[in-house]
Amino acid sequence: MTKFKDLGLKDEVLRGVTDQGYEDAFPIQEAVIPVLLTKRDVVGQAHTGSGKTAAFALAMLNDIIPKKGIQGLIMAPTRELAIQISTEIRKMGKHTGIKIATVYGGQGMGIQLDALHRGVEIIVATPGRLIDHLKRGSIELGDITHIVLDEADTMLDMGFVDDIQFILDLSPEDRVMSLFSATMPTAILRLAEDYLHNPKQILLDADDLSGEGIDQSFLVIKDRDKFKYLLDFIKPLKGQIIVFCSTKYRTRDVAKYLHQEKYNAVAIEGDMSQSRREQSMAKFRNGKADILVATDVASRGIDVPRVELVVNYDVPNQEMAYFHRIGRTARAGTEGRAITFVSYSSIGDWNIIKRQIKVPLRDLNQEMHIEVSIPDPLKRQSSSRRFGGGNSYGRGGGGRSSYGGGGRSSGGGRSSGGGYGRNTRDDRGTKRKDTDSDGKNSYGGRSRW
Ligand code: AMP
Repeated sequence: MTKFKDLGLKDEVLRGVTDQGYEDAFPIQEAVIPVLLTKRDVVGQAHTGSGKTAAFALAMLNDIIPKKGIQGLIMAPTRELAIQISTEIRKMGKHTGIKIATVYGGQGMGIQLDALHRGVEIIVATPGRLIDHLKRGSIELGDITHIVLDEADTMLDMGFVDDIQFILDLSPEDRVMSLFSATMPTAILRLAEDYLHNPKQILLDADDLSGEGIDQSFLVIKDRDKFKYLLDFIKPLKGQIIVFCSTKYRTRDVAKYLHQEKYNAVAIEGDMSQSRREQSMAKFRNGKADILVATDVASRGIDVPRVELVVNYDVPNQEMAYFHRIGRTARAGTEGRAITFVSYSSIGDWNIIKRQIKVPLRDLNQEMHIEVSIPDPLKRQSSSRRFGGGNSYGRGGGGRSSYGGGGRSSGGGRSSGGGYGRNTRDDRGTKRKDTDSDGKNSYGGRSRW
């Protein structure tokens, strides 16, 4: 394993790295830093948790000269990721004198303009708000020497491709650029081809999206029983938990019901103000909250090391979202678990995701002897592909749970209250656009996230 001190970084950069307690470079850092230091472009297939932030940031901190204007630009899809990147760069760059501004929609322009007026060398931005600044002249890209597109596939999914092209077209040709993406769909390869010069391709963790190292399981249950099972799963745990829901309404309901059960839970969903989202994330990150209930807004890029369990309260509506959600656990080599609740109407979607899971997947219905009765013949057909003809999930319902004893009746307790009886999967096919630029989205309406 290569040590940071052997990567050719300046002393003041190395001191920041050592302050963080990092000594050995992660594989992505070992591969990316020397290439960027030679000013060659990089396309890296990497996800959060691999150490990619340090990989691109250290090369940037090494080359950028303090007090010489904006030289580094990092674009990220969400405010949370932008803030996280800035925080990490600030820590690593604290001996360099390099200053960073974070610009993202949802925060007042004033704060960002003040930061920019004080003079910064690196901008970490979500694309929409960056364009607002470019249009009003508060950010200029003429002296940019380093550009990073982080989580490029998410930015594309969110409809930022035109914004990114607009921004890149304004920046100098002669710059070092790196693009990081968890997946490499054609659109990303095309973007890389158009904007990067002879990039070195670094495909390090293509397998990470299989969720290796994560104990993955699923449980087929009635939608209205989910909350009761959630409580059963989280009760014995000591570590932090993330619960992913399909819509903001579900997110709010689940957080509310957890509060009623006296759990210290915070929520993040697209309708919350930026400051409330930040407060929730800060509480969760510093351990003041045990449970984060979130829509997919929070599933990418957020690195909280102590997450012991991810619960997919609803089956995600995209295969990739599943892997990004469960990737919030088992960070940096720790062990983690992910449980997916599959309501009857989601079995078809779950089967599609399941086919992509290349590691052993535990069937909790079998392990816990929980029977399901699937009313819809179509769904029964799709489920039988997985559950086999013997069908231990015969009719009869009621759910013989091997845990919780007879104490909790099916559908009883709080979970029978509103909000759990319906499966709200009508969001499928709706493409998300970041609620950047002060919370509006390009679809004119309010997002479901
Ligand atoms: P990232 O993929 O950039 O979000 O980083 C994942 C996590 O690993 C973050 O919490 C970093 O602080 C941590 N980290 C990054 N590089 C190293 C390293 N070389 N040694 C130890 N921890 C690291």
